Amino acid sequence: MTSRRTRERLVERLRTGGISNPSVLAAIRDTPRHLFVDEALASRAYEDTALPIGAGQTISQPYIVARATDALLGGERLERVLEVGCGSGYQAAILSVLVSMVYAVERISSLVYRAREHLHRLGVDNVRIRHGDGALGWPEHAPYDGIIISAASEEVPGCLLEQLASDGRLIMPLGSGQNQTLISVQRTEQGFERRELESVRFVPLIGGTG
Ligand code: SAM
Repeated sequence: MTSRRTRERLVERLRTGGISNPSVLAAIRDTPRHLFVDEALASRAYEDTALPIGAGQTISQPYIVARATDALLGGERLERVLEVGCGSGYQAAILSVLVSMVYAVERISSLVYRAREHLHRLGVDNVRIRHGDGALGWPEHAPYDGIIISAASEEVPGCLLEQLASDGRLIMPLGSGQNQTLISVQRTEQGFERRELESVRFVPLIGGTG
């Protein structure tokens, strides 16, 4: 159920869904998603669906992880990326093979410990995870070439825009409940350019830590 063929099937599904970036598809194929969920859910890990990871949170649907990652990279190799809401650590693991350094912030401490364990088990050494309110970013390592927010908010957090490098891109679900759109915000010399990508459904970005 976690075999190479099962993973290839998932990649095929993403390709059919419009994901064409070969590096992103390879990262999805080569990252063992079943190690990021409870054993009881391992047999469903290569379905294209979000799954519970405890504390009322979810590991995102592979298609959305691929779509957001593809939009973040824009065909380039980025140096430094911030993820807000790293949950199980799966999105960070995908990013770790595509960018030089990943900084991730998660507000629920039990998830932080588990995500670190998952990444350690895979030998990933270019992801750092901090327990905290990701809406405030991680200013010590800014500016970031890319920022990916894995939880929905009605507004683009100003602190995060400030931590975006010139030409950097921020990807996030904007909105709430059923009414959310994945957007891309690019920092340009003139300011910020916003583009809508597609409808999505994420858990909310919550202030403070849990
Ligand atoms: N990308 C994750 C993965 O691959 O497993 C899934 C992320 S889950 C959809 C959203 C995560 O955002 C949850 O773990 C939640 O605790 C976290 N979160 C929500 N608000 C946050 C905040 N202000 N700062 C940091 N993390 C936050």
